[in-house]
Amino acid sequence: MPTFDWIVVGNGLTGAALSYELAKQGASVLLLERSASPDNATRYTYGGVPHWSGHTALLRQLYRESLARYTALPDETGVAHHYRELDLLLTVEPGQDPQALAQRYAAVETPPVPITAAEAQEREPYLNPAAIAGALTVRHGHVDPAALVKAYNHGLQDAGGQIIIATVTGLVRMGDRLTGVTTPTQAYAAGQVVVAAGGLTRELIKTAGVKVPVYFSHAEVVETPPLDWQLRSLIMPADLTRSAIESESSRDDTHSWWDEPGHELRPPMLDSGCVQFPDGRLRIGQISRINTALEPALDAAQGEQRLRHGIEPLVPALAAVPGQWHACRVAFSEDGLPLAGPIPGLQGGHVFSGFTSPFGLVPAVAAHFARWANGQDSDILSATRPGRWVTDEASHES
Ligand SMILES: Cc1cc2nc3c(=O)[nH]c(=O)nc-3n(C[C@H](O)[C@H](O)[C@H](O)COP(=O)(O)OP(=O)(O)OC[C@H]3O[C@@H](n4cnc5c(N)ncnc54)[C@H](O)[C@@H]3O)c2cc1C
Repeated sequence: MPTFDWIVVGNGLTGAALSYELAKQGASVLLLERSASPDNATRYTYGGVPHWSGHTALLRQLYRESLARYTALPDETGVAHHYRELDLLLTVEPGQDPQALAQRYAAVETPPVPITAAEAQEREPYLNPAAIAGALTVRHGHVDPAALVKAYNHGLQDAGGQIIIATVTGLVRMGDRLTGVTTPTQAYAAGQVVVAAGGLTRELIKTAGVKVPVYFSHAEVVETPPLDWQLRSLIMPADLTRSAIESESSRDDTHSWWDEPGHELRPPMLDSGCVQFPDGRLRIGQISRINTALEPALDAAQGEQRLRHGIEPLVPALAAVPGQWHACRVAFSEDGLPLAGPIPGLQGGHVFSGFTSPFGLVPAVAAHFARWANGQDSDILSATRPGRWVTDEASHES
């Protein structure tokens, strides 16, 4: 049976970054991904890097370190990921107070500054100033997610790692130890296994009889074909509902619902926004839905109509552009910090998931994880360890 130091499951942003960083530390690594062109969250993301948004010393350090990783990666891997800086325009709805919304961001490293609707339109000519009471703005990072995954994959293979397209059907457990994984055609053995399977992370780890507190939302977006226009900014609401629904949906009284498919914990929320990628495609988002089913029944036509109605007043030129509706799962944790490290009670088992703002944090945390795996102490891994809830896990996760 093929044997590796590390098996990483999932080739979204998290698995791609971690598998590369582990191989860079000299480990033999197998990256398993179920699809050759995955329909995952990394595929439909905006790709924003909110390096300005750290509100704790830990987050500020990680954002800084991620920027350093973005600078180094093209040389290390030989693949460009098109990192750039653009204006983030956080739109303020009519009736909302821009100053009051600005206060919510007061504790971050570089708080976005309030500007008038006319100033917002000067920065982004496609924006309709009549639809907003103003905006908050800050310089924001942006990366091409497909190119970033390609860069990490290239680096992994250059360092001797392997990528195999196969669905991991289960984790192999012998006593208290994980010894590998199974796929429909083959078993693979490894000293260490890490699950970086995005919204499917929780489900896959359950095959080893363990529950980890990582959850998922369902996101809906419209993606356009390459368009011959130049949207300059990333547009999102200043009053973002997504973060609020995540914290409310992982409360103590809802923990058991995550093992009973079909609970809709909050009505679907719309955060209207858009961004354009270097190849000319735009993503128009975003509906977020917390439903504990892995495959809830989603109405594509209704979702697309809601997304288009949401963006139309803000960016009228987007109302009629061609586009295709897509949905994906997005992993999150209950305290906004990722789960990165060993799974309690399961030797050789690890998780790397549940990131908020993963494009800002994953490059740094993956490098810390890999150095920790190579024997170095890490304060970062202490903060992200999946066992940090271990005292109350017995009540809500066993
Ligand atoms: C509309 C939208 C906008 C966003 N904007 C931003 C943003 O601006 N900035 C930001 O930081 N984040 C943003 N996010 C969030 C971010 O995109 C995701 O959290 C991130 O891409 C998730 O990466 P991942 O590796 O955890 O999961 P995924 O990208 O979902 O990858 C998980 C992979 O695991 C594979 N997998 C699962 N199960 C198995 C199995 N059993 N066997 C083999 N493979 C398996 C899947 O096929 C998949 O490829 C946004 C998300 C959306 C939807």
